[in-house]
Amino acid sequence: MSNLIIICFILLISLFLIYAILPTILIRVTGWGITKMIHSSAIAITFDDGPNPKYTPQLLDLLKKYGIKASFFVVGSKVKAYPDIIKRMSEEGHTIGIHHYNHISSWILSPFQLKKYLDMTEQAIFECTNQKVTFYRPPWGHFNLFSLMLSKRYKVIMWSHIFGDWKVSKGINGLLDQLLQSTEPGSVLLLHDCGETAGADRLAPHYMLKCLEIYLRENANKGTKFITLKEVNF
Ligand SMILES: [Zn+2]
Repeated sequence: MSNLIIICFILLISLFLIYAILPTILIRVTGWGITKMIHSSAIAITFDDGPNPKYTPQLLDLLKKYGIKASFFVVGSKVKAYPDIIKRMSEEGHTIGIHHYNHISSWILSPFQLKKYLDMTEQAIFECTNQKVTFYRPPWGHFNLFSLMLSKRYKVIMWSHIFGDWKVSKGINGLLDQLLQSTEPGSVLLLHDCGETAGADRLAPHYMLKCLEIYLRENANKGTKFITLKEVNF
């Protein structure tokens, strides 16, 4: 009996490796199926996990103040909860992409569930914007075997710079220092406009916004070019 349990355990671990871990390593290491922003003289600022009723409108105000178009990878259930924020994003020229219907890793989604969540999120965004969804970024950058086929359906976008801005412990200075060094053309910056996901701090977007304002002000003075993903010639 105990041997059977051990065999089942090994089988389960092997299946998980084949279904979840190996595809993620393959995609992340080789960039297979990932759309990259190359030959661009601009920087793309992207935000994951929203919309959030408190912080996303503040972020949109800030982007408007500096005349910057960004890109948002949104959670479908929150799109349903806050459609007016998505409408505003769209009207103000930002790109809206999919970040699953709930903030769940592809590692624990079956192919059927993943397809269903993508369809539901795409539909929720379409109902707000009347525009076809082109871009997808999975939560935590996790892929599964089925994800390998998604590059036919979406442009899968990862990031070149990630800051740990979902944690308050990062502190304003730590985050700001890192942001201010992120000015290479062709960069894709990843920030978060919602602190409600697992492992994040609820107040974290408050500090992110403070740092982002300084970053945008500094770069407005330098003439740095920012671009939203739908403007990129991939
Ligand atoms: Zn996320």
